[in-house]
Amino acid sequence: MTQLLTGKVVLVTGASRGIGRGIAVLFARHGANVAFTYLSSVEKGLELENELKAFGVNAKGYRSDAADFKAADELVTAVVADFGTIDILINNAGITRDTLLMRMSEQQWDEVINANLKSVFNLTKAVQRPMLKQRSGSIINMSSVVGVKGNAGQANYAASKAGIIGFSKSVALELGSRNIRCNVIAPGFIETEMTGALDQKVVEQWREGIPLKRGGSPEDVANACLFLASDLSGYITGQVLNVCGGMLT
Ligand code: NAP
Repeated sequence: MTQLLTGKVVLVTGASRGIGRGIAVLFARHGANVAFTYLSSVEKGLELENELKAFGVNAKGYRSDAADFKAADELVTAVVADFGTIDILINNAGITRDTLLMRMSEQQWDEVINANLKSVFNLTKAVQRPMLKQRSGSIINMSSVVGVKGNAGQANYAASKAGIIGFSKSVALELGSRNIRCNVIAPGFIETEMTGALDQKVVEQWREGIPLKRGGSPEDVANACLFLASDLSGYITGQVLNVCGGMLT
């Protein structure tokens, strides 16, 4: 297998499960050294660290709250100390607190905006330092098709995911001259623990409504990340790639 990321250092937030985990595993298979974070899943973090090391790469999990500005800055300092630099940042950590606007509390709004949007600001700002120094980098931010088209019952989540798109396009414009690229992935319906809690009848209806007639897998999203992280996408920045089986067409 041709490895696309040999020797590169990636930082992935929220990789203890779901899409983030899929990204960490695929990137290790492609020769990247993987630094990753989680919030509460300590056991799963340790398991993943060992699984990644089995690919012969350097790997380390950090317990770090992406929503915390100071913690994000300290995390990047620690990763640079442990790995030497950061070539690729994937802002994947995210949460949902779904409810209709009528019932949505200030806390539900703030939690989602902080975990999904402020986190992207925190980590992107912190990785600027090593990326500017080496005059290269690829930043990939995880939005959602919901951030592009909206969704009833997810006003907080959709706002956070739409915010990521405006933020990423601005960063692409600011940092392009330094050879730092910034792109967005907007997954559709990806079957993970986040979606496992949903009513199975609803899930079946969603699958039927997707042109490719299935939910996506974490690997489907990880493959798109691999493209945007690698030199294959060297002339692509400021773009939103929908990974949604044709759902948003
Ligand atoms: P998931 O299975 O719920 O996993 C979320 C991950 O984020 C976990 O590793 C969790 O760590 C971590 N996390 C949550 N808050 C964090 C914080 N404040 N700091 C650090 N880590 C934090 O979610 P997923 O389905 O894989 O989704 C991953 C991303 O894709 C999210 O941004 C989500 O919005 C987006 N997305 C998902 C779908 C989908 O259909 N699944 C669709 C569109 C977009 P712990 O395990 O420690 O809690």
